[in-house]
Amino acid sequence: MSEQSPASHDVVIVGAGFSGMYMLYSLRRLELRVVVLEMAEDVGGTWYWNRYPGARCDVESMEYSYSFDEDLQQEWEWTERYSAQPEILEYAAHVADRFDLRRDIRFGIRVTRAWWDEDSGGWVLETDTGEVFRGHYCIMALGCLSVPRRPDFPGLDFFRGPWYHTGLWPHEPVDFRGLDVGIIGTGSSAIQSIPQIAGEARHLTVFQRTPNFAVPAWNRPLDADEVRKIKKNYAAFREGARWSHSGYNCDDAVGPGLEVSDNLRKSEMERRWQIGGFTVLSTFDDVNTSMEVNKLFVDFAHDNIRSRVDDPETARLLSPTDHPFGTKRLCVDIDYFETYNRKNVTLIDISDDPISHITPTGLVTEGGRAFDVDTLVFATGFDAMTGPLLGIDIRGVEDVSLRDSWEAGPRTYLGLTMAGFPNMFTITGPQSPSVLTNMMSAIEQHVEWVTDCLVWLQRHDLDRIEATEDEQDAWVEHTIAVGDETLYPLANSWYVGANIPGKPRVFTPYVGGFDSYRRICDRVAGDGYRTFDVGRVEPRPRGKGGASGGTRTPTSGWKADFESAASTSSATEA
Ligand code: NAP
Repeated sequence: MSEQSPASHDVVIVGAGFSGMYMLYSLRRLELRVVVLEMAEDVGGTWYWNRYPGARCDVESMEYSYSFDEDLQQEWEWTERYSAQPEILEYAAHVADRFDLRRDIRFGIRVTRAWWDEDSGGWVLETDTGEVFRGHYCIMALGCLSVPRRPDFPGLDFFRGPWYHTGLWPHEPVDFRGLDVGIIGTGSSAIQSIPQIAGEARHLTVFQRTPNFAVPAWNRPLDADEVRKIKKNYAAFREGARWSHSGYNCDDAVGPGLEVSDNLRKSEMERRWQIGGFTVLSTFDDVNTSMEVNKLFVDFAHDNIRSRVDDPETARLLSPTDHPFGTKRLCVDIDYFETYNRKNVTLIDISDDPISHITPTGLVTEGGRAFDVDTLVFATGFDAMTGPLLGIDIRGVEDVSLRDSWEAGPRTYLGLTMAGFPNMFTITGPQSPSVLTNMMSAIEQHVEWVTDCLVWLQRHDLDRIEATEDEQDAWVEHTIAVGDETLYPLANSWYVGANIPGKPRVFTPYVGGFDSYRRICDRVAGDGYRTFDVGRVEPRPRGKGGASGGTRTPTSGWKADFESAASTSSATEA
């Protein structure tokens, strides 16, 4: 592969969202030469791109923030229970300023190819600007939902009006006043933006293929007293999140759903619904494992929709029946269902009559129904979790491509590393808890694990680490087995890649629990990374199937760890 005098660093980090920013901060203390390559023009990752009306985090503000610096968490003031996108982006900018992060970040540069160069022992990264970077280590901090996906409807080029994707929203305000707007999709992004667009547009037509479950956010301004209380004991509060099942503090389950008394069952479901957000998913131990218990939540949610939507037929269409509760990413809503009571909002069910093509003035379904709109909004989601990594042509040892290695689905060890791709780490990668947790907790855990790993290598005068095929196979098998114990794989969700035609159907996040996962990672580190091939980079002939010359002593300590850890039930997500 061609290469033009690459800029050399100890570590190249790709991505300057919350993962890349903390990774940079964290590696600075090792006095390594680090550069971050970021395709956006500023920090913030998902919050830089997702500027659609109503964009808001569905994890509470006091949890969805960095915990690594006491002064930072004490000084920053969140204004609402769930923060809106502009405030989160402001926070990201504040962190970048406070720790002077931007001086090591190159903005507006996209990595297109990355390959392992055995001879020099490092990664070479090619970018769309033509610049080439070399890093002894490469850390992919790409995010899980950073490749927006728009269906390939024919005719879009001829559409006369403007169109938008929620995940690539313009920086300048979009004015929907006086316009007939069509929105495609009813996932989290749509559920947040529909009430906002409806409040502005002349008319909003929602094209729904599959309805989604949503629990109320009950968003509100943060109360000064509750903030003071949390900040007084912020360290303990964060520790609670760190060792929780989902990466944030929430009430424990009251027991298995069918074993508690009728009274407790009903009152607890009602109480959790009134709290709002993801706490609903951990009401009982078995919401995600027992179909019978899950059905209680399906019925509860259907009743809730009926109570909020005036027209019974619209309420029926909005009520999901194709997947168990919470097995697609649960949405957290603000006035979503009530929006369908507005006179200027129409719900169009396209479950049996999909969109065929776009016309200059709107769209047509396969059954020939035509709809005229001035503007189209695609809230059609992302090529999640694997998409960001596979979007880069990554080549490991002996030029093996990641795309080929993952043809049948992702293969990682701990969601942090891949066999055949030495000295590469992924932050919140496939087969780690990531999207099933509070992402901030997941990010901090990964960044700290990678940092500790590099410190350990330095201390032992080593500079090469690679996952072994055996441990990777075992981890892949384990993640799938743990997923199969739950109801998650039953849904046609982006968790299994069902939203991308042709993508292998594999349940990709690790659902064994954030606390168990952390224990497993800690054990691997505590055991001196014996489950990895570790050694020194030396030009050498390589045999088939992975690294040679390392100091590997295989163990499967994490298995024992997992077995003794908490059960896989009540996984909640954020
Ligand atoms: P999504 O959940 O994947 O939803 C995409 C929607 O587009 C679905 O309703 C899907 O229908 C529909 N769709 C896709 N292709 C279509 C087609 N060809 N014709 C008609 N409809 C089509 O995407 P998202 O709403 O952007 O959310 C993705 C994830 O981002 C969320 O699950 C969440 O993890 C994260 N997110 C978080 C927040 C937050 O923190 N508050 C906000 C937004 C997003 P089907 O269901 O039938 O496929």
